[in-house]
Amino acid sequence: MRDILPPESGRWRHFTDVFADVVERAGYGQLITPLLEDLGVFTRIGDATDVVTKEMYDFVDKGRRHIALRPEMTASVCRAFAEHRPTTPWKVFYAGSNFRYEKPQRGRYRQFDQVGVEVLGADDPNLDVEIIALAWEFYARLGLRQVALIVNSLGEPDDRSRYVDALRDHFVACGDALSEQSRATLDRNPLRVLDSKRSVDQPHIASAPRIADFHSDDAAAHFDAVLVGLRALDIPFTIEPKLVRGLDYYRRTIFEFQGGTLDSAQNALGGGGRYDGLVEALGGPPTPGIGFALGLERTLLACDDEGVFAPAPTPLAAFVVDVTGGLEAVSLTAELRRAGLAVDRGYDNRSMKAQMKLANRSGAAFALIVGDDELSNGNVIVKPMQGGEQVVVARSEISAYLTALSDQN
Ligand code: AMP
Repeated sequence: MRDILPPESGRWRHFTDVFADVVERAGYGQLITPLLEDLGVFTRIGDATDVVTKEMYDFVDKGRRHIALRPEMTASVCRAFAEHRPTTPWKVFYAGSNFRYEKPQRGRYRQFDQVGVEVLGADDPNLDVEIIALAWEFYARLGLRQVALIVNSLGEPDDRSRYVDALRDHFVACGDALSEQSRATLDRNPLRVLDSKRSVDQPHIASAPRIADFHSDDAAAHFDAVLVGLRALDIPFTIEPKLVRGLDYYRRTIFEFQGGTLDSAQNALGGGGRYDGLVEALGGPPTPGIGFALGLERTLLACDDEGVFAPAPTPLAAFVVDVTGGLEAVSLTAELRRAGLAVDRGYDNRSMKAQMKLANRSGAAFALIVGDDELSNGNVIVKPMQGGEQVVVARSEISAYLTALSDQN
């Protein structure tokens, strides 16, 4: 778990602001759920997922409740839906931290942030297109270019279970030729064997049955409609038959965004899909859902690699250098901040030289200097930090003067 210091932290906030701006324009409202939930909320995601079996931060609290820090947010959204029964379609977005007990490495942390959306109560393939397009738009707004969209359909639950049976048969027949890790995965979830990056597994994965051959007519029509919509929006995609993703409840459309500059083990910037049954499992009515979650840290790594979305410290309009004791700086900064200007100051009545050094380092456009003469004459010296003549401005005019100057910029 990491500390995020300024100015990087400002970039995090900006990231969330850009995301909120993109999705609020499409009618999504923010849902804020607790950081922890009853453990059962997450175990409903599925017993065969690593997130649930290995990575949960769970503990018993003082009231002897077995609770867990959230490892992702879809389950919390479905729990909230089941609890509050809002009208559908319910379009929400979220932003915040999740916790997974993973082996930390670049792009993989035990506390990490995600932004995402979920829509509950609509089965329309156009909705699948809408939410994929929103993520696509968000990456574009960040300035990222090297993002690849991969899509697949897991079919209807029946298609999927027939497929899982066929996969199991296929991989069981491979016997010891499969890696030991994949043989263990096979017992729990044959779909996840397709995720294996181990070279010994690759020929067996390549020869495995394909999900598309198991799609029912309905599932195939839904997937086709999604692809038609993506093409209509000129969003490039690749169909990846091996894409399965973790959640046991996924059905029909699933998708992932991969960063072109990232290491292949950690190149998933985000992903999502359609799911069924999760709301029901959490005590609500049968409700179709679809959503995605995008990882903040990994996306920012991709931004670093592409040299886009750089951290930008808040620009200061002015830095007050008061060498008369500091009280004048108290009222001057308060007045200017009230007028909407970003203003900082020196403390501890340090020397002119020391405070000017701070003013320089602050990046402020102007230093506002108050010495004994200025204090007794009711003036302030305005010194442009990027060079140019300094001017003397009446104390009573300073706010209007600086406001006019920052409006010009
Ligand atoms: P998931 O919920 O596992 O599908 O993850 C969605 C996205 O969240 C991934 O594509 C990553 O960008 C990000 N993510 C998941 N786990 C971590 C982690 N441990 N550290 C950093 N980012 C993560």
